[in-house]
Amino acid sequence: IKLLAIESSCDETSASVIINGKIINNIIATQDVHRKYGGVVPELASRAHQKNIVPVVDEALRQAGIAKSELSAIAFTQGPGLLGALLVGASFAKAMAMALQVPLIGVNHMQAHILAHFIEEPKPEFPFLCLTVSGGHTQIVLVKSPLEMEVLGETQDDAVGEAFDKTAKIIGLPYPGGPLIDQYAQKGNPLRFEFPETSTPGLNFSFSGIKTAILYFLQREVKKDPDFVKNNLEDICASVQHTLIKMLMQKLKKAARQHHIKHIGIAGGVSANSGLRSTLLQEGEKRGWTTFIPQFEYCTDNAAMIAMAAHYKFLEKEFVGLDAVPNPRMKFHGT
Ligand code: ATP
Ligand code: MG
Ligand code: FE
Repeated sequence: IKLLAIESSCDETSASVIINGKIINNIIATQDVHRKYGGVVPELASRAHQKNIVPVVDEALRQAGIAKSELSAIAFTQGPGLLGALLVGASFAKAMAMALQVPLIGVNHMQAHILAHFIEEPKPEFPFLCLTVSGGHTQIVLVKSPLEMEVLGETQDDAVGEAFDKTAKIIGLPYPGGPLIDQYAQKGNPLRFEFPETSTPGLNFSFSGIKTAILYFLQREVKKDPDFVKNNLEDICASVQHTLIKMLMQKLKKAARQHHIKHIGIAGGVSANSGLRSTLLQEGEKRGWTTFIPQFEYCTDNAAMIAMAAHYKFLEKEFVGLDAVPNPRMKFHGT
């Protein structure tokens, strides 16, 4: 089984080849055009995808050393994501599937973030819990099988990645600020400043309150000392990150308790965060969890995870027709 997968849901144009369930490559073109706007501009994202998609796909096939005619199916991210961005990948995949007369596979981007766990060893056993933390989502998912997933809790407002990025913006760091907060936090004192945590019922999250709390806190401090942010950057980042991680871990521990599951993974862009990674390992050790963290390059948006999901879908013959449309708010199937 030789599959080509395309990811274009947000601001990464990516292509990957998977052969018999083994990822061969993962070509990613990151879009820089958004940096100066402090966030992803949807129209610019679509245009950049259009510019990048042919070279990225060519490179993936060339590196894998296979001809288009050898492909068994073409996979693409069907949603969730930005409509215009998704359309580029979907149209390209459809055209290719039609020309090659092979099946088309529509992949759910959030399901794929979780299936990034199956790219390399050690792979989690089913059932396991996955904390999916990214730029647009924050979910605790009960994963029963590769294609059977149930959302147990999710954010009621902002995603945790958004909380990272918006906080970064407030303190004057360039977009995307998440990785920079991580960097500064490594040298700071996480207990120096305290920010109020929002409580939410059940296994749900809320992250919109915290960015406002941080904004007011900084406005207050800057009045007293105009250089407050500059002089305390590392401690501010460490304290914010500490609070966000604490909020995530509370619900994850609760979910593990309630569902009696000790196999726990994290996925999505924010799972690249070094503080979250080390906290998960520590908590896991304390609680007898077996923890799973995908390799760095498979945490943020990439086509390898789409290819992995496509492989499982191919085995189940879960194909879509050429009339398939992208769905910006796509939910999990088969739950
Ligand atoms: P979604 O997957 O929900 O559609 P997305 O695709 O934009 O959203 P990802 O690419 O999975 O999200 O993740 C991007 C997010 O991850 C951004 O918010 C970014 O700041 C955050 N992020 C990446 N690395 C780190 C890090 N080291 N620490 C904190 N946040 C990080
Ligand atoms: Mg991105
Ligand atoms: Fe993503």
